[in-house]
Amino acid sequence: DFVADVGLAEAERIQGDMQRVMTDIVQSARRTGKQAGDFGEQLQGLSGVLVDVEVQRLSPHLDAALASTQAMRQSVQALQDQVSGSEREIEALRADLMRTREESLLCPLTRVLNRRGFDERLHAMLAQPPARGTQHCLIMLDIDHFKRVNDTHGHPVGDKVLEGLGAVLRSVPPEPGMACARYGGEEFAILLPSTTLNKAVQLAEAVRTRTRGVRLRNKSTNAVELTVTVSAGVAAWRPGEDARALVSCADAALYRSKANGRDRVMVA
Ligand code: GH3
Ligand code: MG
Ligand code: MG
Repeated sequence: DFVADVGLAEAERIQGDMQRVMTDIVQSARRTGKQAGDFGEQLQGLSGVLVDVEVQRLSPHLDAALASTQAMRQSVQALQDQVSGSEREIEALRADLMRTREESLLCPLTRVLNRRGFDERLHAMLAQPPARGTQHCLIMLDIDHFKRVNDTHGHPVGDKVLEGLGAVLRSVPPEPGMACARYGGEEFAILLPSTTLNKAVQLAEAVRTRTRGVRLRNKSTNAVELTVTVSAGVAAWRPGEDARALVSCADAALYRSKANGRDRVMVA
């Protein structure tokens, strides 16, 4: 929940900041290491020049300084290695964070986006104007007489039906930018950025016919236990309209599908 709440843009910003800080540390450790090395070489040169002059008095001090410089070089080298290690670790954490975030936006039962994922994608879609000659479209889907399925076969079978509809949604040939989601309960949604109403209706029809084709069988007898149907409502976004209004339009069309006998697609 914490990761999902952060939001995609925010998560990416945090990761970018972490990466920048690590890169800065690596660079400054490298610079320090080089300076320590240069200084060590200078001391070595100096001790070479001074060998004949008052050797007895200066040499012990120079040797001590040289030894300290070498020790410092080693510790800077160790720091550099450690920072490089941390850099790799951050890269791995970054990948983990992205994966966790994606997971947190998925419905575990149906493996399509959950409501949170849907809201995020819907707002992202409406933040961009549709490409020339196209429209942003939304399909709302609702399983027909689903309460009956639960009442007749029990909730675990109802869950299997939901899982099956998730599989249907994941099986339709995806349009560019398309996003499928479980809107809630037995309601699903498909977002289609920069498409045509025609294509959206075709896609809704594809989902409807594929759903009709799904058969739930009894495991031991292999007899068909049940088939289900879905009703759909399709709406195209009108510039200026907010997300809620678009969902309401698609919902109204879905309601007409139900009223007209279910197992059909209606356009707002
Ligand atoms: P309609 O054709 O008008 O849509 O009828 P319906 O029976 O599908 O609609 P209704 O809203 O009366 O019932 C929806 C049912 O969906 C009721 C609820 O128990 C069931 N449901 C919602 N979420 C889940 C779920 O996660 N698992 C199961 N098994 N059932 C669920
Ligand atoms: Mg419903
Ligand atoms: Mg229903």
